[in-house]
Amino acid sequence: MSDAETLFERIIAGEIPADVVYEDDKTFAFRDINPQAKVHVLVVPKKRFRNVGELAASDPELLSAVVLSARKVAELEGIAESGYRVVFNTDGDAGQTVFHVHAHVLGGEQLGLFGR
Ligand code: IMP
Repeated sequence: MSDAETLFERIIAGEIPADVVYEDDKTFAFRDINPQAKVHVLVVPKKRFRNVGELAASDPELLSAVVLSARKVAELEGIAESGYRVVFNTDGDAGQTVFHVHAHVLGGEQLGLFGR
């Protein structure tokens, strides 16, 4: 992977403004700029991995921290009880556009089915 910073590293560093929902020592969560549901928050590990598979293989504890932060975001957003979806897009056909692994936390309304 190139050493060039991704957009999300610049957001984590505060160089690009974001609507921050939650932060701890390992993870950072902020609202998606183009929300696909009433609640749409991105959770990223501060340390960069390209996608969720690489994160799982290299640092499973950090993957766990990302998922726990997604749960924390759901609690903060008041959707933990009603239900929510956690999505990791991986590469081309999934439409991944930022190659710094991120969990989409979606909810706040009845979500549609998967697929196209
Ligand atoms: P991906 O398609 O799974 O890689 O998700 C990238 C997400 O980042 C998309 O849902 C975009 O809307 C979101 N996004 C892109 N730029 C920004 C930004 O500057 N702030 C917040 N979200 C962003």
